[in-house]
Amino acid sequence: MADKKILSPAGEKLQAARRRLKDLTMDEGLRREMREAVTGADDLWASFNRAYALYEKGDSIRPTLGNEMQIFYMRERQTVMFLLFPELRKIAYEVARSLGYGVMAGQMAGKTLPEIMANNAPIALRDRYAIEEIVEADDRHAIYRHRECADCFGLPDLGMKICVYEAGTAAGCFSAQLGKNCRVTETRCCANGDPYCEFLVEVTDDPIDWEKE
Ligand SMILES: [Zn+2]
Repeated sequence: MADKKILSPAGEKLQAARRRLKDLTMDEGLRREMREAVTGADDLWASFNRAYALYEKGDSIRPTLGNEMQIFYMRERQTVMFLLFPELRKIAYEVARSLGYGVMAGQMAGKTLPEIMANNAPIALRDRYAIEEIVEADDRHAIYRHRECADCFGLPDLGMKICVYEAGTAAGCFSAQLGKNCRVTETRCCANGDPYCEFLVEVTDDPIDWEKE
């Protein structure tokens, strides 16, 4: 459980389930197999791409209700999931990374990390995910902040940083765009008692583990 006593103490079965998840380590082979498992889902990727194409045209995937909805539902689901099983955050990061790499990178522009950051920042605001502010950026690293983050703004101090979907998506997008592996770590979070979320982007020398199809 998180250090902060937000939930009741975990019983034996919950603790055992968490121990099993804790044993799961993310290595390059597992990441590659995750990627391979989703790349074959042609209909799924086509539906994602169709949604973005509609959005670009100003249309939405749902004919009557449109694309917008109250944010409470999604954030409640993921907040309680990560509170019960904080270990799932590492899986969520990798899942988001595969999405960022496979789907969302096409929306980006720029060749260097500072250019990519500058081009990316307005997307967070356009989609009302957060108000993005670039603190610093060079070819090897960047720091950016999210104010009023859709995932965590207004939550109590849960003693954990929960915006792993944002971090993973950004890591996948930046890696695809740069052709170099990028790691993105959330260093501050509204769910961790901070007034905003802050993310550290690091370009690593590791070989890129997913090649674009
Ligand atoms: Zn956050």
